[in-house]
Order: sequence, then structure tokens, then C-alpha cells
Amino acid sequence: MLTPIVLQPDFRVTSLYQAYPQPSLSRQAIAEELQAHGLKPTGQRLRVAEILMRAPTHMTADQILAVVRQSGDRVSKATVYNTLKVLAETGLVRQIHLDPERSVYDSTRAPHHHFHDLDTGELLDIPPQDIAFSRFPELPEGMEAESVEVVIRLRKKPLKAR
Ligand SMILES: [Zn+2]
Repeated sequence: MLTPIVLQPDFRVTSLYQAYPQPSLSRQAIAEELQAHGLKPTGQRLRVAEILMRAPTHMTADQILAVVRQSGDRVSKATVYNTLKVLAETGLVRQIHLDPERSVYDSTRAPHHHFHDLDTGELLDIPPQDIAFSRFPELPEGMEAESVEVVIRLRKKPLKAR
């Protein structure tokens, strides 16, 4: 079988389907969530958290940075990246590794899987109950599975096969 050449277009990530509808969160609710996870809701932290956590979404760090800059806020790139790191570490958002250079941050915290459309860059949620394993490897001695996340990469079928 020939390996298809998949051109990576502009990396866009949007969410068209949500596995879990989450209520949209107010600024106050987000500040409380940060505090509940041991994070001081500083202005800059809150700004980054708000963009990502207000509603379920998938965004790269650069996309979040762009939104911050568009709104005229003076938040450094380092602050945005550090805040995202902290949010992911505390479990407030999920970090999805799609390629070695780019992570996507997912504000839907409940476990779920993803379709990744390689043509458009879109990331679509798959509810966890839609994927089941009939075989699972034995885990290394003394280890337990913390989570399993599946990314199904999609591309258009070649014309004649459609
Ligand atoms: Zn997702």
C-alpha cells in the first residue's frame, strides 16, 4: 500500500462536536475553580483560563496567545505558556499531544477520545463509550493505566475509492 502524502495545512483546531456539554463558566466561577485547585487567580492567569475554560474548546497555546493579544491585554508568551502548563498539571484542562511541536489544550475535562482531521486540522470529540478494547496489553509490573486516549487521524478517501 502506498503511503499517502498528507500536506499539513494551517493548523486549525476547532471543536464541532462535544462529548460532554459543559455549562459555560463565568469569570467568577473560573476564579473559584483555580482557587479550588490551589492556584491563585491572578489577573493574567484568569485571563488565560477564561479564554480556554469559558466553554468547551480545543485550542493551541498560540491560538490562546493570539486571543489574549487581540483583546489588547499585555500578557507575555511565557505567561500564557506557563499558565497552560499549570492548568494542565492541576487537571483543570487536558493537554493533547498531536504532534511533537504542538499541544492542544482541551477544556473538556471528562475523559474522551478524538478524531483529528489531517486536512483541516479539526479536532472532534468522541465519547468514551464509542471506543472499546477487545485486547489490551499487560501493563508493566507495578504500573496502572492512568488514562487511555485515542486519536483517530482522518483524511479524505482517494477519489476512486469513494
Ligand atoms: Zn476534546
